[in-house]
Amino acid sequence: MKDVYTLEDLRHWDTATAGEVPPIRLAVFGDPAAHSRSPQMHNPALEACGIPARYCRLHIRPEELGEALRLLPRAGFLGTNVTIPHKTAVMEHLDRVDEHARKIGALNTVVVEGECLIGFNTDGPGLLRAIRAEFSVDLRDLRVLVLGAGGGAGRAIAVQCALENCVRLALVNRTFDKARQLAVELEPYFKGPRVFGPVPRLEAVPWEEADLALQIANTDLIINATSCGMKRTDPSVLPPSLLQANLMVYDTIYTAQRTPLLENAEAIGARVANGRSMLLYQGALAFEIWFNRPAPLEVMRAGLG
Ligand code: NAP
Repeated sequence: MKDVYTLEDLRHWDTATAGEVPPIRLAVFGDPAAHSRSPQMHNPALEACGIPARYCRLHIRPEELGEALRLLPRAGFLGTNVTIPHKTAVMEHLDRVDEHARKIGALNTVVVEGECLIGFNTDGPGLLRAIRAEFSVDLRDLRVLVLGAGGGAGRAIAVQCALENCVRLALVNRTFDKARQLAVELEPYFKGPRVFGPVPRLEAVPWEEADLALQIANTDLIINATSCGMKRTDPSVLPPSLLQANLMVYDTIYTAQRTPLLENAEAIGARVANGRSMLLYQGALAFEIWFNRPAPLEVMRAGLG
C-alpha cells in the first residue's frame, strides 16, 4: 500500500491497487494528507474486527473534491474521512447530511450507501467523549472557553457545547467577527431556564488580555482549537499570567505531547490533556458509523502510539 494515493489513482482504483489484500475500501481525503494518523488507528481496528478492508490516505486538492467523492461508489469504497481543507466544502457534494453535521456546518465522515453519499460530523461528539475520559466531567456541567471558535474545529466544539447546553460558553477568536457571528447563531441554545448569576451564559470575547482575564475567572475548561502550538516555534496561545491552577486545559493539537500552553498550565497545577483523545474518539465514532458495531478502542489507541 502506498503512503499517499491521488485522484489519478482513484480514477483507476482497481489497477492502482491491484494485488492489495485486503482491498482498500476506506480513506482520509486531505490537502496535504501525508501527515494523517488515521490509517494507524483504523487499519489495526479493521484487522482486529476481521473486516476485510484497509484504510489509506488520499491527497485530494479542493478542485478535485467533487470528482473524488463521485468516484467512491464505483471504486468499492465503504466511506471516507475528510480533513483540512475539505470539512465544509464537502457538504455540497453529498446526497444527505445528518442533522448534527448540518448544525455544525462541517463534517469529517462520509458513508457510501449504494450510489448515495451521506455525511456525518464526529469531531464534536469526539471532543465530548474526550473531555469525559480525560477529566471525568461532562461538558454540560462546565463553563467552557473556546479559543479559535471561528475555525473548523472550534466551531464544531462550540456547537457541541451549545447542544450539550453547557453552563456557560465564551467564544474567542483572533478574527473577532467570526466569534460574534457564531454567538448570534448559538443564542437560541442558551435561552432556556438554566440561570447562571449575573454573567451572560454565552459571550463572544475579543482577544484582549483584560477581556480574557475576566472570562477565565468564570471558566472551568479552556479548549484550544487554534492551530497555534502546532509548530515547534509557536508561543503559548495564552500568556502564562492568565492561567490558574483550578482550570482544566484541553489542547486539540495532538502532534505535540505538550504544547507551550499545556506546559504552562501544567506547571501551575492545572489539569491538562492534548488532542490525541479527541482524535481517537472521533475515529472510533466514524468506525461505528461505517460498521454499525463498537470500535475496538484499545486497539485504536495503541495504533496511535
Ligand atoms: P482552521 O479552520 O484553519 O482554524 C484555525 C483557527 O486557529 C482559527 O480560529 C484561527 O483564527 C486560529 N489561529 C490560527 N493561528 C492563530 C494564532 N497565532 N493566534 C490565535 N489564533 C490563531 O483549522 P481547524 O481545522 O479548525 O484546526 C484547528 C486546530 O484543531 C488544529 O490545531 C488541529 O490540529 C486541531 N484539530 C484537532 C482534532 C483532533 O481530533 N484532535 C480534530 C480537528 C482539528 P482566525 O479565524 O483569526 O484565522
